[in-house]
Amino acid sequence: MKNVLIIGSGIAGMACAVRCAEQGLQVTLVSPFPSERSQSVMAAGGINAVRTEHEEGDSVESHIEDTLKGGCGLGGERAVSGLCGHGEEILHYLESIGTVFSVDEKGRPIRRAFGGQSHKRTYYCGASTGKQIVSALVMEARRLEAAGRINRRLWCCFHSALIRDGVCYGAMLFDEAGGGLTAEYADAVVVATGGQNALFGKTTGSTQCDGYAAGKLFMQGAELKNLEFIQYHPTTLETAHKRMLISEAARGEGGRLFYKSEGRNIYFMEEKYGQGGNLLTRDVISQEIDAIGGSAFLDLTFMDKKVIDERLPEVGELCAKYAGIDVSREPIPVQPSVHFFMGGLAVHLNHETNIQNLFAIGECASMYHGANRLGGNSLLSAIYSGNVAADEIAGREAAGSDHPDFGSELEREREQLARGMDTESQFPVMYVRDMLADTMNKQLGIVRTEEALVQGREDIDYYLSVAGRLKYDPNVMPYFNYSLTGILTLARATVTCALARRESRGAHYRSDFPKTDEKYSAATIISYNDGDYSVRLDEERFYES
Ligand SMILES: Cc1cc2nc3c(=O)[nH]c(=O)nc-3n(C[C@H](O)[C@H](O)[C@H](O)COP(=O)(O)OP(=O)(O)OC[C@H]3O[C@@H](n4cnc5c(N)ncnc54)[C@H](O)[C@@H]3O)c2cc1C
Repeated sequence: MKNVLIIGSGIAGMACAVRCAEQGLQVTLVSPFPSERSQSVMAAGGINAVRTEHEEGDSVESHIEDTLKGGCGLGGERAVSGLCGHGEEILHYLESIGTVFSVDEKGRPIRRAFGGQSHKRTYYCGASTGKQIVSALVMEARRLEAAGRINRRLWCCFHSALIRDGVCYGAMLFDEAGGGLTAEYADAVVVATGGQNALFGKTTGSTQCDGYAAGKLFMQGAELKNLEFIQYHPTTLETAHKRMLISEAARGEGGRLFYKSEGRNIYFMEEKYGQGGNLLTRDVISQEIDAIGGSAFLDLTFMDKKVIDERLPEVGELCAKYAGIDVSREPIPVQPSVHFFMGGLAVHLNHETNIQNLFAIGECASMYHGANRLGGNSLLSAIYSGNVAADEIAGREAAGSDHPDFGSELEREREQLARGMDTESQFPVMYVRDMLADTMNKQLGIVRTEEALVQGREDIDYYLSVAGRLKYDPNVMPYFNYSLTGILTLARATVTCALARRESRGAHYRSDFPKTDEKYSAATIISYNDGDYSVRLDEERFYES
């Protein structure tokens, strides 16, 4: 019997857990909160796939082509072919476990248009695609839990991996419910901890996604890839606590962007790019909004109210609730916000990192989306990557019960946690997290320069220099205290990658290097050695082996 430890229970972690358990593996699935509170439930727009019965001119080849084009030459062809080639199978699977996709009056699934796609191929479940998929996977996991194959541990956070000589044997986990720090041994560890939203404070995503696991694993020897590619979603609504996403579906259904000038509405995307301007990829639209001052309006007022109510109910509801706007009568004020991370843990095609037996899947791994992700492709990649990792692990020999002894490391970490941090400092940990978010938004925005990035690097180096001496904040989960250095290290790595890529491509726009440069047709791979960050350009098609 092989044991698999899966960290994170969003769509990627759940899909992997179910597939592992169904192949006879014993799964431990940990996360601080239930799956129903993961960022995955926020996904409203839909999931991409080409289904033979609804093809109507579309094809898997076309899906592959659009994805590679959206990724601006950095999405690996073999990886993307695998992803798109499994779309139909994944949709059938989701239906078979209870996901209900929206259908038209004849009972045929409806597809919507998303940016950068040559055909309508985004399937959705009303306004709750992510919720439906999570619920269906949770039911599957419960069934396997009852059969004793999955052990779900809540209130449990990743602390560090148990690594010796380039091989992973498990992880140290912190039990926020009072169990403290423990070592969990496993034949394989799968990291599925989502993106890095919390580095930027207010984003469209969840603050649970703070990138700590990726940052800590990086410090422990795992390589990271393409961190500079951060997707800004062009249409988000400012609210007190977060940026609410106005789904791309609003533009897919015909929504138009404009700004006001001398009493006129200037439909700038259409003026510059013609008919399809409002549905160009997110990087292009975000850069255009940035160029006109950072905000714009999204106009749905000319649309039939029935279409808005039926096809975009969540847009109407959230604008009414958070901004008091009736979208059928008033335009929506929008601005670009950090939304998705194309970069993350560098993985091979089988989703194993450069550390043996350590896998990464979902948004925390970098594989399919190159320099810019197409909307609807990430739910697909979360499930597909979970399946790939599960099949790989199931096909391997079990390591057996022998593993090195990590007892002294565990004791050392426990003592460190008990000691807490120097209480003389006046700056609590959460204050530094806020300062980091300011730095990241200011110095690593939509438009970047050498000067701003160098300033960002200096700021983060300063935060890192004080991180170990900060006041231990008793009012927050212990996790927030011990995770700070890992998060700062990830931020430092991100700025270092952005400095290394002296060109503009996809979501990485440098006003001092505004052109795409063939020299950089490669992934940025960054590694860490005792405070030293080293970047290399990997031209071998980005771990496509
Ligand atoms: C508002 C919004 C709308 C979106 N809409 C769409 C869409 O329509 N279509 C689409 O394709 N994509 C969409 N996306 C993107 C997509 O939802 C995500 O990329 C995808 O759901 C990520 O899944 P995941 O399982 O990798 O991560 P997540 O769902 O983020 O799950 C991460 C898990 O890891 C856990 N975790 C985090 N840190 C730790 C730690 N240190 N220790 C233990 N556990 C940890 C979390 O608690 C959680 O359980 C959207 C994203 C947002 C923010």
